[in-house]
Amino acid sequence: MRLIIMGPPGAGKGTQAQILVEKYSIPQLSTGDILRAAIEAKTPMGLQAKEIMARGDLVPDEVVCGIVSERLDGDDAKGGFVLDGFPRTIAQAEELDAMMTEKGIALDAVISLEVDADALVARIKKRAAESGGSRADDNEEVLRNRLDVYGELTEPLIAYYAKQGNVKHIDGMASIEDVTASIAQELNK
Ligand code: ADP
Repeated sequence: MRLIIMGPPGAGKGTQAQILVEKYSIPQLSTGDILRAAIEAKTPMGLQAKEIMARGDLVPDEVVCGIVSERLDGDDAKGGFVLDGFPRTIAQAEELDAMMTEKGIALDAVISLEVDADALVARIKKRAAESGGSRADDNEEVLRNRLDVYGELTEPLIAYYAKQGNVKHIDGMASIEDVTASIAQELNK
């Protein structure tokens, strides 16, 4: 199963991606997690990404496309994967299409988690409180920027993939269990 899970910050992508990992025995390829690990390890890529991520802006397309291309070639991704946090721009989506064509693989579905903006702010504030501030980008001002960036650059991808005919619209406002159930139902159609 080759999947993309998309949705605004706080939509529950990571939670549902983990469930898909278990269900289909596929890896979760999270560009956010990979970048945070690079920051932690103080690699050159991490140093480049650190300030950008702390502001809630997007890391350059070449950087994240490089990460994904490398991960798609990993042995664990041969049988499928769930991309979480990528693509985030039309340019990234076009690059992903090119990479997949070159590798002779195709997406099975794009899962779009749909939630309203007020709920997102509340969820992220809760996550920030619970994580004890471990993520530099979980504060209100940065969150608003991340939501703006999402609306401007990432949301247009839903229409991009709708044209390809593989978007599954999921109501992300339901409970975790119900969201999981509606994803399962859509993927089994
Ligand atoms: P969330 O799931 O809360 O939206 P992520 O963990 O996916 O957050 O991403 C955190 C930050 O990492 C983003 O705000 C951005 O700075 C950077 N990032 C992650 N993925 C990408 C990407 N595909 N393109 C550019 N920047 C990215």
